[in-house]
Amino acid sequence: MFEKVLIANRGEIAVRVARACRELGIRSVAVYSTADRDSAVVRLADEAVCIGPPDSRQSYLNAAAIVEAARKTGAQAVHPGYGFLSEDPDFAEICAENGLVFIGPRPEVMAALGDKARARALLAEAGLPLPPGSMAPVGTAAEARAVADEIGHPVIIKGVAGGGGRGMTLVRSADDLGPAYERTRIAAQAAFGDDRVYLERYLTQARHVEVQVLCDGYGNGVHLGTRDCSVQRRHQKLVEEGPAPALSAATLDALAETALRGALHVGYTGAGTFEFLVDEAERFHFIEINCRLQVEHPVTEMISGVDLVHEQLHIAGGVPLRLRQEDVRLHGVAIECRVNAEDPARGFVPTPGRLTRFVPPTGPFTRVDTHGYPDYLVGPYYDSLLAKVVVWAPDRELALNRMERALHEFEVAGCGICTTIPFARRVLDDPGFRKGRYTTGLVDRLLGVPEATGDEPFPTSPARRTR
Ligand code: ADP
Repeated sequence: MFEKVLIANRGEIAVRVARACRELGIRSVAVYSTADRDSAVVRLADEAVCIGPPDSRQSYLNAAAIVEAARKTGAQAVHPGYGFLSEDPDFAEICAENGLVFIGPRPEVMAALGDKARARALLAEAGLPLPPGSMAPVGTAAEARAVADEIGHPVIIKGVAGGGGRGMTLVRSADDLGPAYERTRIAAQAAFGDDRVYLERYLTQARHVEVQVLCDGYGNGVHLGTRDCSVQRRHQKLVEEGPAPALSAATLDALAETALRGALHVGYTGAGTFEFLVDEAERFHFIEINCRLQVEHPVTEMISGVDLVHEQLHIAGGVPLRLRQEDVRLHGVAIECRVNAEDPARGFVPTPGRLTRFVPPTGPFTRVDTHGYPDYLVGPYYDSLLAKVVVWAPDRELALNRMERALHEFEVAGCGICTTIPFARRVLDDPGFRKGRYTTGLVDRLLGVPEATGDEPFPTSPARRTR
């Protein structure tokens, strides 16, 4: 096991990892930009190194500065958190070249899975059902039209290197396809430095259900159940819960087993998430793998009792997986609400500012992961996630009530700051959500935005695909 780990991230996830390190007797090194001098992790970690100015390209994305901080402090491993360099195979390579263990899957596995078109092809090989679509990047608008004609509208055009809900365009009719194709390529090039795109049939009335897996470097793996993350704005999650509600036990089992089969097929190591869309008939379709810890990982921790960061550290340290599938017992229901410094009334725009009041909820089975504190300055440079409120209860009804109680207690105020708390409360109040019957269209419905309607029938075979 490691003696010292560098945390190449910021915000609540850096705090989360620093806590895990301390619990395991590992010394932690925080890195921070000049904008984050006063951040919570700088106080909580054993050491802290400034790695550059606020612009993340010069700090949290600056591999050379991070590796230098590790060298200077004698860290043996790097935990990348989520976002920033967490899914960058080049960074993982650079770590290895400098004698540092990158806490995540092997670089070549990450490279294959980070290319979403390649991941589709790889997972199809393992027999995972995919939404109908292209099996390779689509090179011209004419080719895109041919694929769309075959799979039917609506379609979604996605950047091969996309992530974080960005670089995707929903196309409802053939007339819109050509311009949307060009637009998405330009946007993908600007956002990810890669203009390759591919097409999928857009599933209306679908639910986003994902499966947490843990695999070691010796061919062992377990799944830790499902999370429903259908409550999304602009394809980014707002509320997550586990296990996914209102699905049959057979579907939940099949999802979990399918994900684990896929993970073992690609030689995955560490904590990973397999994302699926589940349609009304409970047919599921693989969409992508996230090669890192997810923001919503506490949901799984609450229902499984497994500390995923501890497991990541053990796996990266070369310890064989400490769990067998029969040791994984899921109990009750957990829900997470993300508290972002954003204004839902203005399209969820970030609202930076200084916190004047910050009193997170406490109480039974209530966990808050946050880097916020009174007087903390929520800067304009990074993402707007301020806190995650997670509750657990033996059943969903009580979990919902507990979350309402927790959000009611949460006091956040500051100059110019709005939060997503009032919006999360609207979600909790929604009758469909309360019944566990909701889709990725829920947020748009609450905001009065019409969802895409599929005019053409959805192909009957869920595994059907073109090229
Ligand atoms: P990212 O990597 O940017 O997060 P994903 O491929 O995981 O992108 O998709 C993010 C979200 O976009 C999904 O959770 C879902 O709401 C929506 N989405 C993606 N693909 C489809 C699809 N084929 N049909 C319907 N919705 C989709």
